[in-house]
Amino acid sequence: MAEGTWYAGDIDRVIVTEEQIRAKTDELAKQVAADHADADSLLLVGVLKGALMFMADFARALGRYGPPVELEFMAVSSYGQGTSSSGVVRILKDLDRDIAGRNVIVVEDIVDSGLTLSWLLKYLASRGARSIDVVTLLRKPEAVRVPLDVRYVGFDIPTEFVVGYGLDYAERYRELADVAVLKPSVYQR
Ligand code: 5GP
Ligand code: MG
Ligand code: MG
Repeated sequence: MAEGTWYAGDIDRVIVTEEQIRAKTDELAKQVAADHADADSLLLVGVLKGALMFMADFARALGRYGPPVELEFMAVSSYGQGTSSSGVVRILKDLDRDIAGRNVIVVEDIVDSGLTLSWLLKYLASRGARSIDVVTLLRKPEAVRVPLDVRYVGFDIPTEFVVGYGLDYAERYRELADVAVLKPSVYQR
């Protein structure tokens, strides 16, 4: 992990490297484009803030293979206090446009308990989307227990709190190019 950066000393280990993310994003975009070859356009709904980096790279990758892409963002809050999902979802930023009849691809950073996504899928369906698929860069083992149809998954990772590539700890570490686990000492500050 980038020597000389302010965060180099905070990293315990890298889980997914920048190169792995790039290759996987391209692979996922190819699959999504092939599966939606008949669609007039795809409406990507990125879930802020965590999916920011993946949304940008995934949209560019789709640009090489796919139908035209439009970008929308939502911000939801699912965590009350602490680091586990509460299942209570609050909309912090809603869609700017009508999605009725659209082919929607939800772009997520990580599916952990799946509670946020499960709520979001119901919400998007209630807004009349024609089709809804999910692409997530990361998935934790917990998610397997939720009856959720996550069609495109980048990497299955262990049950650990990760940061980087959009994912934060206390709003920091989002700018890391890799996905990594922090040293325990970081949480004791
Ligand atoms: P879920 O509802 O599936 O438990 O998780 C919802 C959101 O919690 C994710 O989209 C992500 O923003 C955040 N989250 C879950 N696991 C992690 C993690 O390991 N690290 C970080 N930084 N955020 C996480
Ligand atoms: Mg997310
Ligand atoms: Mg966060």
